[in-house]
Amino acid sequence: MNEFELIRTFFASQGSAQDDVAVSIGDDAAVVNVPPGMQQVLTTDVLVAGTHFLAEADPVGIGHKALAVNLSDLAAMGAIPKWFTLNLCLPEVNTSWLQGFCRGLFGLASQWNVSLIGGDTVRGPLTIGIQACGVVPTGKAMLRSGAKAGDRIYVTGTLGDAGVALLHQRGTLPLAAADLATVQSRLNSPIPRVSEGLALRDFASSCIDISDGLLSDLTHIATASTVGARIMLERLPVSTVYHTYFEQLDRWAIALTAGDDYELCFTIPGPRQTDFEQLSAKWQCGATYIGDIETESGVRVVDRLGVDHKPNTGGYEHFTAD
Ligand code: ADP
Ligand code: MG
Repeated sequence: MNEFELIRTFFASQGSAQDDVAVSIGDDAAVVNVPPGMQQVLTTDVLVAGTHFLAEADPVGIGHKALAVNLSDLAAMGAIPKWFTLNLCLPEVNTSWLQGFCRGLFGLASQWNVSLIGGDTVRGPLTIGIQACGVVPTGKAMLRSGAKAGDRIYVTGTLGDAGVALLHQRGTLPLAAADLATVQSRLNSPIPRVSEGLALRDFASSCIDISDGLLSDLTHIATASTVGARIMLERLPVSTVYHTYFEQLDRWAIALTAGDDYELCFTIPGPRQTDFEQLSAKWQCGATYIGDIETESGVRVVDRLGVDHKPNTGGYEHFTAD
């Protein structure tokens, strides 16, 4: 199968005929209609075999995650996801791998009505790059820079489950089979918080998605907003699986520092807290108040006795060892 047959078989047929796509796969570039009064929001993320996933991992999960991490970035901006392009670097044409990959990819794409509108297909080490595009009412995108002293800090869902799965994968944490299945799905098939991100536009003063770990990503909000943050350790939301292995996880360390959870971390102005909690009570993933924005710069973690807690590891950073 050559490049063109591959594109036709696996991707061109999936290019949806949504009316916001004027020209889809098949020309030199795609043409899309941006609704009036909206701005485009663009993001891209690359997944490299061996760095972001194991080459032998289930292709369904790889397809899902490649799109999910991009939708998570759009969610953090409060954007409605619309279109995406796919850059595929494949070592060989393996049709059963591609079928699985497409199942994961298009399963998530159809869930959010996002259309594949183009891409590039080349031979080389297994790498998947997706660029996703969404729209947001003009001026309404949620930024990292809007947090103010006195704002409440929240996170969606639970923290650290993907990190627990990674520890298992590296052979440092044995897990019972059922627990492993739970955290592995958090690592391999993260659920982008798209609808929560859209709802947050009416409440949040800042927002980020947690890809590198809570401390690392909250520091981005603090820096961009020129404020500081205080996290209350015992408020961090963790799953029952996390609780089961709490001591082996160095207590709160993994929840504070492990990446790959793709939950949203955001700030809500104090006067909006009650209204916001009325809304978030209806969210399946929930939202938890974990701390406050302060004027003093830096991110602090305190326990319930008010004692400063010094976590020993930072978030994942690709070039720190270089
Ligand atoms: P060009 O050489 O003009 O860049 P290509 O031959 O690379 O065009 O691609 C032909 C068409 O197929 C283009 O519309 C391109 O966007 C699309 N395409 C190529 N690879 C992919 C892919 N992996 N997924 C979706 N569309 C793709
Ligand atoms: Mg090309």
